[in-house]
Amino acid sequence: MTFDFYKSLSVGYLLLFISYFVDSIDQIFIHSILYTVLMEKTTLILAAAFIYIGSKKWMENFKAVSLTDDLTEIPNRKLCHEIIAKEILISQKQVSYLCLAVLDIDYFKGINDKHGHNTGDKILKSFAQLLSEQTRKGDSIGRWGGEEFLILLKDIDIDCAYKSLDLLRNKIALYDFGDKNQSLTITVSIGIAQMNKTDNFESLFIRADKVLFEAKEAGRNIVKF
Ligand code: GH3
Ligand code: MG
Ligand code: MG
Repeated sequence: MTFDFYKSLSVGYLLLFISYFVDSIDQIFIHSILYTVLMEKTTLILAAAFIYIGSKKWMENFKAVSLTDDLTEIPNRKLCHEIIAKEILISQKQVSYLCLAVLDIDYFKGINDKHGHNTGDKILKSFAQLLSEQTRKGDSIGRWGGEEFLILLKDIDIDCAYKSLDLLRNKIALYDFGDKNQSLTITVSIGIAQMNKTDNFESLFIRADKVLFEAKEAGRNIVKF
C-alpha cells in the first residue's frame, strides 16, 4: 500500500487554504489588486489539480488493495474471477487455447497443526512467490482461498499444460519451505481443465475442481486432467 495520494491531497488542501486566505485578505482591505487576484486564482487552479491527482491515486490504491490477497500479495479471489472471465471471452473470440489449473496444498491442516499457523502462513507466502516465479509471462496466478490457488495458462492445450504443471508439481515437492533450523517440504495436487467454446468461468472452474478432487482421491501429489 502506498500513501502517495496523501501527499498530493495535503498539497492540494494547503493551496486551497492559501487561495481562500488571499481572497479573505482582499475582501477585508476591499482593494483587490492584480497581484493578489492572480495569486488567488493560480493557487485555486493548482489546488484543484493536486486534489484531482490525489483522489485519483487514492481510488487506484483502494482498487489495488481490494483486489490483492493480504497474505500472499497476489490476486485475490475477486480479481482471479475477473481476470479469468475476461480471458475466456478473449480466447473464445480468438479461438485460442486456454487452460485453468486449480492447485490445493496436500494435508495443509496437518502442517498447521504440526508447525503452527505462523509457519503455515510463511509457507503460503513462499508458495505464492514460487508460483509467480515458475509460471510463464502472460499466465495468471491467484489465491482462490485458504490453501487453494489458480493458474490460468494461455495459448497451450491441455497436454502441454499437463507437462508444465507436472514439472511445477515436482519442483514444489522438492522445494524447501523451511528455515535454517529445519527443512520443510509440502506437496500439491492439481486439477486442469481446458476451455471449450461454450465455457464461462463457473463451468470451467467446476471441471478443473472436479479433477482436482480425483487427484486427491488418487493419493495426492498428482496432476490430473
Ligand atoms: P487435503 O490434502 O485434502 O487438501 O487436506 P488439507 O488438510 O490441506 O485440507 P483441509 O481443507 O482439511 O484443510 C485446509 C487447511 O488450510 C485448514 C486451514 O487451517 C488451513 N488454512 C487455510 N487458510 C489458511 C491461512 O491463511 N493460513 C494458514 N496458516 N492456514 C490456512
Ligand atoms: Mg482445500
Ligand atoms: Mg489442501
